Amino acid sequence: MSDSEKKLIQDYFGRQASFNVYAKDFTTFKTGGPVSAVVYPCEKKDIEFLFNLKKNTGIIVKFVGNGSNILVSDHGFDGVIAFTKNFSHIECEDEIVSAFSGAKLNKVIGFCIEKGLSGLEFLTGIPGTLGGALIMNAGTKTVSISNIVLSVEFMDHDGKWCREKREQITWKYRYSQLKEKAFFILSATMKVKKGNAQEIKKTISEIMEQRKHSQPLEYPSAGSVFKNPEGFFAGALIEQAGLKGYCEGKAKISEKHANFIVNTGNASSTDIWKLMRYIQQTIKNKYNITLEPEIELIGRFP
Ligand SMILES: Cc1cc2nc3c(=O)[nH]c(=O)nc-3n(C[C@H](O)[C@H](O)[C@H](O)COP(=O)(O)OP(=O)(O)OC[C@H]3O[C@@H](n4cnc5c(N)ncnc54)[C@H](O)[C@@H]3O)c2cc1C
Repeated sequence: MSDSEKKLIQDYFGRQASFNVYAKDFTTFKTGGPVSAVVYPCEKKDIEFLFNLKKNTGIIVKFVGNGSNILVSDHGFDGVIAFTKNFSHIECEDEIVSAFSGAKLNKVIGFCIEKGLSGLEFLTGIPGTLGGALIMNAGTKTVSISNIVLSVEFMDHDGKWCREKREQITWKYRYSQLKEKAFFILSATMKVKKGNAQEIKKTISEIMEQRKHSQPLEYPSAGSVFKNPEGFFAGALIEQAGLKGYCEGKAKISEKHANFIVNTGNASSTDIWKLMRYIQQTIKNKYNITLEPEIELIGRFP
């Protein structure tokens, strides 16, 4: 990014812009090199500025919620990372919850508990924002966010603000067409139902216990690295292949959950990437199954 492009960003965002920020400081993997510019938009017009910046200069603009599903290259990312955390308002009317994309899922769940609304409990323990969850169609083996979404408001790639109903968007397991349709997701409405706050809390603590038991939450990670291939569980395949505990530098295939790669110290994104390739090659050779990454790679990998 040129100095004049940086100045353009600085002039618009002022103190809401910084430069050469390391991805290891904002990703849950705690890895990744310098990002040319990071900004904190807080209004629709800021998104419009970013859209025009991209259109007029070709600078890549990437939105980041909690950085819990991304792996940023050690070479960094020559573009703008726009954090969505300022878009965080949550409200409800009867049995419909509306939330902005930067709202963390645990805050949305907390809001529902307060209002005695049930339906979002399955998202417990997913350390992301609503925007990230909509892009990834986050969820569990059996339920995904697409099951409860009613509508999504977003800016498309022509710079137009749109609201689409759930049925207008294609959703699959860990895939949402919003990835292609949306430049930026602003908000979504979700269907919930009246419930008992005590029961909701009980379900949530059971899910959290289960996660603590089965996931290596004590280490930085990005959750499951690979999608489950049709008819199989990626974790089970990796475990059967004897790969649990295998390391590349300080990146390790978790002993607790084979589909998690954990950063056990100062792992680099390259260590994680090499481990991913090794897993993919091993599973292909042993079972002739292709594992597709669930996490998103940003920037250049060797
Ligand atoms: C310990 C752990 C457990 C996890 N468990 C699960 C699980 O059970 N199920 C599951 O599905 N996932 C799980 N994940 C992965 C991850 O938390 C989810 O995918 C989450 O929804 C990502 O949200 P995020 O805000 O961190 O997204 P980010 O990583 O910040 O971004 C992910 C993608 O969404 C895009 N994006 C984010 N916000 C916007 C926006 N407003 N507009 C446009 N694009 C946007 C980004 O550009 C990027 O492409 C887990 C991760 C960890 C670390």
